[in-house]
Formats: sequence, structure tokens, C-alpha cells
Amino acid sequence: NLWGLHNTGQQGGKVDTDIDAPEAWATTTGSHNNVIAVIDTGTDYTHKALAGNLWTNPKDGSHGYNAITGSNDPMDDHYHGTHCAGTVAGNGTDGVYGVSHKAQLMPIKFLSGSGGGTLADAIKGIVFATENGARITSNSWGGGPFNQALKDAFASSPALHIIAAGNDSNNNDARPTYPATYDMDNIVSVAASDRNEALASFTNYGATTVDLAAPGVAIYSTTPGNKYKNLDGTSMACPHVSGAAGLILAAYPEISNDELKARL
Ligand code: CA
Repeated sequence: NLWGLHNTGQQGGKVDTDIDAPEAWATTTGSHNNVIAVIDTGTDYTHKALAGNLWTNPKDGSHGYNAITGSNDPMDDHYHGTHCAGTVAGNGTDGVYGVSHKAQLMPIKFLSGSGGGTLADAIKGIVFATENGARITSNSWGGGPFNQALKDAFASSPALHIIAAGNDSNNNDARPTYPATYDMDNIVSVAASDRNEALASFTNYGATTVDLAAPGVAIYSTTPGNKYKNLDGTSMACPHVSGAAGLILAAYPEISNDELKARL
């Protein structure tokens, strides 16, 4: 099912239209030293395919942050965030490997069970991730106008922020999508591609403002309650890049954001 990691032409795809994950895994399968925040609807941190790969708060043993309630319980009452987390760092249970087999996933919940959220809660989530050592943030969300406070929150974080380009078939060069289109050195904007080496029909794009494409159609990953399913979206492409960043960090722990971005 994981054509994005290794495409052998399964289900009608084009051979080797993938991220060459097995080739990368010959060098590293990731490291528990890297904290990767998944800023989304939360994560089912009890999912068996994520076991062993969750960040634990040294203060209270919790596994993330819920900006909506102000608590440290980021349980996913949707499914989107759990799906993204599995693509970043699924542990291989039931065959669901993330791009990085090992990481410290830090679930940050600011999107509700209906999938919406506020800018204020997004900023709280970015701040929590930054203050608690996230080296990468994975952001499969967007919407709303330019917002200086949100831009400042990303800018003031030393992490590299991977952000979905959006799903409106829009040219982000002509009509910006935020936060993906903020022009900043520590943001990577991700479009979605399919198993036949084409951009997804829905994906936003932009020669200047979108940095790269990654697999984002029929992506199989974790959902709450020890389940799995296929989803489409730049939301699914973004965590492929976040996981790849985790592999690079495992191989080059001292790498700068500029170097990491260049390697991606
Ligand atoms: Ca390949």
C-alpha cells in the first residue's frame, strides 16, 4: 500500500515514482533524538503503530499539547492528525512504516473534531512545540489571510516548518495560501503528487512559492482506534517531507535549517 515509499508499479503506478525510502533506510531509519511536532487535530497516542515513537513531557508524562483546552492531552477526536503522524513515524506495525521508523512525535492539537481551529490556538501550538524542543514541525493545515502574528511565531522558532501547500488547485505564486506561502527561510511548502509522477489534480502549486512535491494521493496510514485508511491531500504529502527531514537529522544531527532544506 505504501507506494509513496517504494513504488513497484503496484495498483497501476509508475515504477520508482516514490521517495526511495528503502534506499534511505540503508543509511538510517531515523532516531529517537529528533522531536517532530505534528500540529493538527491531535494524535491517537495509543495507536499500536505509533507505540514507542511519541514524545513524553518530562514534567507530567503526557505526550503533547491541546491548545483548544489548554491541557496536555492531544488525543485526536478527528483522524487527520493521527494519519499524518503515521506517515511521519509509523513503527511498522501491520506494515505501516512512516518515512522515519523512529522519532519523537509531539502531537499538538489546535484543530477540533470538526477540523477547524483558530489562529490564536495555532500560535499557541507553535510556541509549545518550540519551547519543548521540536526540531521539525509538520503542518498539514492552512487558511485565512496574511497574519503577522502567525508569521512571527514561525519566524521566531528555530525549527524547520514543513507546511502543506493546500488543496484548491491554486497557483500560490499568484494567490498566496497561508501559512504555506510565507516567504521564510525556515518554511518548506509541499505540493502533492500521485503514483504516476503527476501533480495531484487538487494540489496547489507555484514555481516560486512551493518548494517540492511529495506523495499525496491514496496514502495509507494510521487512524484512531488502531485503524488505517487511505487519504488524499497535500496534508498527506507534508508528513512525507517531515519524515524525510527526520531521516536527514538522524544522519546529520548538527545540520542547519538551510542545509536541511537544501537536502530535502
Ligand atoms: Ca524507488
